[in-house]
Amino acid sequence: MLWLSPKSAPRGSSLVYLDISHGGEIYRIGLRRLASAQRYTLRVRAAKQEIILTMPARGSLKEAKCFAAKHAAWIGARLRRLPQRIPFGDGKIVPLRGILHTITHRAASRGAVWVEAAADCDGSTPLLCAGGDALFVERRIKDYFLSEAKKDIEAAVIRYAQQVGVSPRRISLRDPVSRWGSCSSSGALSFSWRLILAPPFVLDYLAAHEIAHLLHMNHSKLFWEAVERLTTDTRRAEAWLKTQGSGLHRFGPDP
Ligand SMILES: [Zn+2]
Repeated sequence: MLWLSPKSAPRGSSLVYLDISHGGEIYRIGLRRLASAQRYTLRVRAAKQEIILTMPARGSLKEAKCFAAKHAAWIGARLRRLPQRIPFGDGKIVPLRGILHTITHRAASRGAVWVEAAADCDGSTPLLCAGGDALFVERRIKDYFLSEAKKDIEAAVIRYAQQVGVSPRRISLRDPVSRWGSCSSSGALSFSWRLILAPPFVLDYLAAHEIAHLLHMNHSKLFWEAVERLTTDTRRAEAWLKTQGSGLHRFGPDP
């Protein structure tokens, strides 16, 4: 099985950004030209914590700027309502396999990442320790999440693949906004690395779901029956993703 690292995955469409200043603050707005757009519209992409301004193909940058400036108060109010980003820094509390851990920088230790159990009975969380230079804590923690995600996803995929007698061509980890996993017609599976933040039954369900797509490339009755044969967690995991999935996008470095 071949793994693709997130770095080699194709990046999402790159946006052009516009800065609008209002009431002493500067708001960064992503601009998107759309052939089908009839007018200028604004929307919030909560997962990426950004505001997107969609403009008609022949709209001008000047008009876009005017439109954004006119709605600056609305933009500010919406941005303030978004949940705060939680970077992978010292002292931050982040989930790993659904359990909250406190990131702890241990300057004296070598540059690795490891988990330390919580002290008994004091109600504290386990620690996710990162050694080495403070500058690299965020990157080390992110790398740790990627490698743990890779381990768990590969184990689940292999387990389910053996159960149904298929062999996936390739697995990759990505960071998509709107889906947690996908399966291409060539049999390549792709998963969000953020599944390692969720409880294990969610990651397992996603693996079962994508493996079932190797049998049925649709969401037909036969497909769901195949999923049911692999896992009994479908409803629980779908419900978890619906209510808590978007919250996983708060964690980590700015996209
Ligand atoms: Zn599906």
